[in-house]
Amino acid sequence: MSDDSRAHCPRCNADLIEEHVNEDGSCVTGRREIGVELPHLYDGILFWCCPDCGETWNDWPLDHPRRAVAVREQLVWEWEASRA
Ligand SMILES: [Zn+2]
Repeated sequence: MSDDSRAHCPRCNADLIEEHVNEDGSCVTGRREIGVELPHLYDGILFWCCPDCGETWNDWPLDHPRRAVAVREQLVWEWEASRA
């Protein structure tokens, strides 16, 4: 997970950070996006998926090998590329 992981889905803007209050009153913060692993392509999370709208995105640095795999396999929409 990158340090600057998204707080909202890039498509539907759903809140990806979830506060959960335990029965004892303590509070935990969780992430709602789904990390997708495709072991036949790469050992580890390749991209993330919104639990609400199903949008996928790639928060790896531009030169990261996992990003290159996800893009090559057309698993994610390239938000950065679409803006260029
Ligand atoms: Zn979404």
